[in-house]
Amino acid sequence: MSQTPSARALVPFVSVEDMMGLVHRVGIETMLVELADAIEADFRRWEAFDKRARVASHSRDGVIELMPTSDGELYAFKYVNGHPANVKRGLQTVTALGLLADVATGYPVLLAEMTLLTALRTAATSAMAARLLAPKGARTMALIGNGAQAEFQALAMKATLGIADVRLYDVDPAATAKTARNLAGAGVAAVACASAQSAVEGAQIVTTCTADKAFATVLTDNMVGAGVHLNAIGGDCPGKTELHRDILARADVFVEYAPQTRVEGEIQVMPPDFPVTELWRVLRGEAPGRRDPRRITLFDGVGFAVEDFSALRYVRDKIKGTPFRRDIDMLADPDDPRDLFGMLMRAKPDGQGR
Ligand code: NAD
Repeated sequence: MSQTPSARALVPFVSVEDMMGLVHRVGIETMLVELADAIEADFRRWEAFDKRARVASHSRDGVIELMPTSDGELYAFKYVNGHPANVKRGLQTVTALGLLADVATGYPVLLAEMTLLTALRTAATSAMAARLLAPKGARTMALIGNGAQAEFQALAMKATLGIADVRLYDVDPAATAKTARNLAGAGVAAVACASAQSAVEGAQIVTTCTADKAFATVLTDNMVGAGVHLNAIGGDCPGKTELHRDILARADVFVEYAPQTRVEGEIQVMPPDFPVTELWRVLRGEAPGRRDPRRITLFDGVGFAVEDFSALRYVRDKIKGTPFRRDIDMLADPDDPRDLFGMLMRAKPDGQGR
């Protein structure tokens, strides 16, 4: 006789299909703005979080990472990979899933797909940094690397800063055509450009979100004019960068969590004491953001566990009262907590139980 799990042992699971339903119910741009606000609110209470660089397992073609954090009430971790060669095999470069748990009991309170949620939270984090650092009145952005993250990045900048023109470039013209198609009717004018050099012309914000497991030079120093805000999110792993180091030397560099970014970000090519500012300090007014309209600001974004924590908690709250969840039986729940074995035995097929 099998045992019916009690409500306390059922864990809400948000599948890819549920996440898509939730995003459309909320509205993509609304969700991007709300996620940016949620992440910002958590960055403002930085000391509340247990922080560490993510745990990375590297292989020839990619990396698999675990990203844990806790604020003492909730605990979250994300499982995420980064495999740039996957696209050629028809697979995603980045896939992810995440779990949120109650610290008081250790019981999971949410299990969720995080491939879509990562694209959303990464774009929301870029937007949160840009609204702090980008030149006032920015209307044009360049988007270099037109893969899975691209449209999310463009729409987050539109929703938070009012970006109206998006200049696209990818080494693969099919990727650019896909992004231009997806952005048609989204309220931004998307223009395909023939080179990265051409894409950055007239752009006040330049986002690089390319995938290549190598020290790439997507942007060179001569391509970055005064006053530009760079949002470099594709370099997020040792040996994987996008910018020429001369750009870093000229820019004011902002990061999520310096101990992780020094290993994974653009700044991995700089000395260990290269000056950077953690974003939370700017948010709290403890450090300057953009100091001068002519300075180059660079958000060296690698993705930090607190962003996933904020995103998972946001989803936990948003699914309440919606159909975008199913409750799954993934926690053992014997009537007597010490009788785990008895629970197993009662589930023996009829006639064999004790
Ligand atoms: P993707 O593979 O779907 O797209 C990457 C695109 O970059 C491809 O279309 C490819 O043709 C293009 N590209 C590669 N080299 C290029 C170059 N030199 N110039 C122009 N285009 C180039 O990958 P994705 O899911 O969009 O992710 C993009 C990058 O962002 C990856 O490196 C990924 O690891 C990273 N990422 C970072 C975060 C973060 O929090 N910082 C989160 C998610 C993904």
